[in-house]
This record gives sequence, structure tokens and C-alpha cells, in this order.
Amino acid sequence: RLVGLGLAVSALALSLVACGSDEPAAGGGGKKIALLLPESKTTRYEALDRPLFTEALKAACADCELIYSNADQDAAKQQQQAEAALTQGANVLVLDPVDGKAAAAVVASAKGQNVPVVAYDRFIESADYYVSFENEAVGKLQAQTLVDTLKAAGKTSGNLAMINGSPTDPNAADFKKGAHSVLDSSGFKVAAEFDTPDWSPDKAQAWMEGQLSAIKNGLVGVYAANDGTAGGAIAALKGGGVTPLPPVTGQDSELAAIQRIVSGDQAMTIYKAVKPQAEAAAKGAVALANGGKPESTTDKNGVPSTILDPVAVTKANIKDTVVKDNIYKVTDICTAS
Ligand code: BGC
Repeated sequence: RLVGLGLAVSALALSLVACGSDEPAAGGGGKKIALLLPESKTTRYEALDRPLFTEALKAACADCELIYSNADQDAAKQQQQAEAALTQGANVLVLDPVDGKAAAAVVASAKGQNVPVVAYDRFIESADYYVSFENEAVGKLQAQTLVDTLKAAGKTSGNLAMINGSPTDPNAADFKKGAHSVLDSSGFKVAAEFDTPDWSPDKAQAWMEGQLSAIKNGLVGVYAANDGTAGGAIAALKGGGVTPLPPVTGQDSELAAIQRIVSGDQAMTIYKAVKPQAEAAAKGAVALANGGKPESTTDKNGVPSTILDPVAVTKANIKDTVVKDNIYKVTDICTAS
């Protein structure tokens, strides 16, 4: 009997040891988290997402390692970067895809190695977690602010030009849908519309230049989906001698855009608080790396999600938004020129 008991105890001890080796070590067990961002022409990625994610990851897991790459708007390059991260032993991929559909191949490859994927900012089918903003609301806020600005100036009709984002970015379709839901019943006419490849400010500018002779006279406003494309549109309008400048929308609260709002060249932008976004993604990634579940507040197409609220920024609330949240100091915005 005693011998039997001894065997049972040592079997239990062995099984405990075996269980123990599967458990994460305290502090995260030196897990590797890969952050894969899509481009660098839009300033948010290198100026905000990257440093804020790095900081949030450190706070969530002191001994986790960050593998970072930026795809410069090249979907094939991003796929290689994802494969490289997996080869380096990434335990989770936090992926902001250049091409939402092409990202399915990355997810398949990660899943094949039991590596979970967090869809960062742009949705990916079958990701394990998604962190973004209410993207249709972004488009609605942009369009509503444009319409309000025009009406405040006494205009109730006229032509609008619409410069949307990249056709490979699922967010761009949401922004566009939200914007159309407001513009199509606004009394203004969307006279020309363009989906900007790669969200390229230069391509947005070239398109706007090409439209000027056709729509210049009746043009009362420009919907531009983000600050990069807004900058391109404004350069084209100025270059074409359009005065006064019609109101132009934007998104991201890039410093240059905030300065254009102060000087009157741009009507509005959108402030999306990247800090809570980066924090939710970092926390979620660490939970997944340790075999747990991210905290989520909702669900998008079956993917547990955290969705944050965008805010419209005009001259009236720069201080209450980007300055209050310490994104910029007044002295960053008001540089002598
Ligand atoms: C992001 C925007 C950004 C755009 C271009 C979108 O998916 O949500 O913040 O301006 O991509 O990079």
C-alpha cells in the first residue's frame, strides 16, 4: 500500500512539473510581440503609434520583446516582414495591414504556427482581437463638419470633390460610407470622387489638379479622408489659384493639419486618441501571448473588439483635444513663420 501511494505521489509530482513548464513565467516570460505598421507618410505611425505601443508594451510586460517593422505601403513587403517576425519567434502579431484582404495569408501563416493575430486599426477577418475606432463615425463627423462649415458661410448648394483613402484599406470604405450617408442628402453635390491609391498625398494632389479645370467654378468644398490627402488637395487648390480656398476636411490631427486649421487653410481634422488604442492592443497582445483572452467591449464579424470614439477638431476645440491630451504644446503649433 505504501509503495502504491508513493507511486501515486511521484506521478502527481511529475504531472505538476509537466503542467508547470507550460505555464507562463511571471512577468510575461520574455514573450516576443511583433508590431507591423503599414506606412510612414501618414505621420501618426512613427510619431505616435510606434512610441506609444512600445511604452504600453513595457508597462504591460516588463520582459517582453518588441519586433517592429513598417511596410511603407507595400503589401508584399509587409508579408515578408510578418514572415520574418514569425521566423524570429514572435508569439503574437499586431498587424495594421496595408491590404486587409491580403492579410488573410499572413493570418493563415501565423495560425499555422499557433501565433495569434491582433488586427490593429484596420480590420482583418479571423483575427483574434481587433482594436480600432468607430470608422463610419469618422466619415460622418468629417462630412457633417464640412456641411456645417458651408452652411455657416451661407452656402446651401454647390459642388464637392471627394478624396477617399486607399481601396485596399477596409477603414477607407467605412470612412467613405459614413461620409456619403451625410453628403448625399446635404443639398450639396458630390461632383467628382477619387479613391487614392496607397493614401498617397502626391496622388491626391495630382487628382485634384486634374479636376480643377472641370469643377473649379462650382466647387464649394473638398472632403479629404485624412490629413495627408488634405495637404495634397490644398496644395493643388493653392497652385491652381483657387481663392478663397474652399473648406477641406482631414483626419489624424497631424501637426501640419492643426497648423493649417489655425491659419484657416483646412476646416477640420479628426482626433483619434492613439494612446488608449496602443494600450488596448499591447495589453491584448500580452494576454494572447500568455494563452489568455484580451479584454474586449464588443464584437466585429465575430472578432472580439475594442472600438474607440473619434472626435472632430476645428479651430474651436484644438486646446480641448490635442493640446489637453499633450499630443502637442501650443508652442509646437504656433511656430514663427
Ligand atoms: C487610418 C488613418 C490613416 C490612414 C492612412 C487608416 O487606416 O485609420 O488614421 O490616416 O489609414 O494611413
